[in-house]
Amino acid sequence: MIETERFQKTALGGAEQRCIDPACGARFGLNERLYVCPSCGGLLDVVLKAANDTDPRTLRAVWTSRLASFDPHDRSGVWRYRELLPFAGDTPIVTLAEGNTPLYDAPVSAAYCELDGLTLKHQGCNPTGSFKDTGMTTAVTQALILRARTVVCASTGNTAASLAAYAARAHLQCAILVPRGQISHNKLAQSLDYGAAVLELDGNFDDAMRVIRELAEDESIYLVNSINPFRIEGQKTVAAELLQQRDWRVPDHVVVPGGNLGNSSALGKGFKELKDLGLIDRLPRLSVVQAEGAAPFASLFGSESDVLTPIEHPQTLATAIKIGAPVSWQKALRAVLESGGTALSVSEQEMADAKAVIGREGIGCEPASATTVAGLKQLVASGVIRSDEDVVAVLTGHILKDTDYAIKYHQEELYTHDRTSGKTKEERRLTGTYSNPPARVKATKAAIVEGLRRHEQEHSGEA
Ligand SMILES: [Zn+2]
Repeated sequence: MIETERFQKTALGGAEQRCIDPACGARFGLNERLYVCPSCGGLLDVVLKAANDTDPRTLRAVWTSRLASFDPHDRSGVWRYRELLPFAGDTPIVTLAEGNTPLYDAPVSAAYCELDGLTLKHQGCNPTGSFKDTGMTTAVTQALILRARTVVCASTGNTAASLAAYAARAHLQCAILVPRGQISHNKLAQSLDYGAAVLELDGNFDDAMRVIRELAEDESIYLVNSINPFRIEGQKTVAAELLQQRDWRVPDHVVVPGGNLGNSSALGKGFKELKDLGLIDRLPRLSVVQAEGAAPFASLFGSESDVLTPIEHPQTLATAIKIGAPVSWQKALRAVLESGGTALSVSEQEMADAKAVIGREGIGCEPASATTVAGLKQLVASGVIRSDEDVVAVLTGHILKDTDYAIKYHQEELYTHDRTSGKTKEERRLTGTYSNPPARVKATKAAIVEGLRRHEQEHSGEA
């Protein structure tokens, strides 16, 4: 009976940590402070085991009833689905009322992609402006359970901002390792305001990841990168929230940006568990879109190989996904293959234009998020997705996450970074296909009327 004893009690039944390598399959308790399998070095999954009397109709009804509750556990769009989480029902939680993000109808983006319709799930509407908050609430809650004193992450910016905020809420010391000069000012500003120790490293994100694994050997430190299985657990609840918002109608396709690939892994796990529990009867096809200069996962899809080859010097203006050695690629691969989805990459120009189109919806997003709409345009053009299919794109970050990028695009001063390509600066300039630069006018009524007329003329016939 040793098998069942390792399962620790949760709201749904029980859960344990398990190595994802089927050849190993080592199993561990939830409160063992692990990041990778000590036997083989593989990634760890949290595996849930539902109680025998779990009824999908009861779960749906409970989750719906919680929408009318003011209890902080119910107000959170993550903890509302606590039956899916590896925590006991009475766990004290660290929450900022994360989740609860809107599902927007996006006709302008749909027309741009030549789709009949498109909905955008905007994870940038979380408390710190990115999808990371849904995983940070569970990871920092776990840090308290493990009695950590310090939480640490390496980050391209969004993880740092999110961890800094949740650590502050939990009164934990927070250390952020960021590649110097390579994250957006907006994200840096957040981490500073939330009181984190921001340590700028000489090197890129992948170097920061390497150092951090060494740090994690210290018992008082808890590592909160996407390798952490408890972050994936919080992030997977987005699948439940998305489906509940759609009255449990499963979309044909869900498209996500790909950086470290924790988000695609989490969504895939979320949909799969909901199917296993009988809440849905099929999986949406999950597809991942990367930036062309940082696309090791998309390259893996186009190749014969089944092992990801890291990229040593990833290049993209979308700093959130400027990652050459994504730690969660095996989990993401499993999720994409199981759902029948795909992976692809888009150019800097395609991403920049798609971002401006999403802006014209009155929605907006950070550059990495726009890979989704740019990728959809390709997938429809190549016939992988039919124009009448039901598609959801996940936007991962708020437009205010990278204001420098937006302003430069609209002033046509956005340059790609591929200095090694031998291109001149002018050749590296991105075209402001949908640019909307500010105009300087005299402070008179006539000048303003003329300015409006000119603006209308210049933008007539656009998206
Ligand atoms: Zn293992």
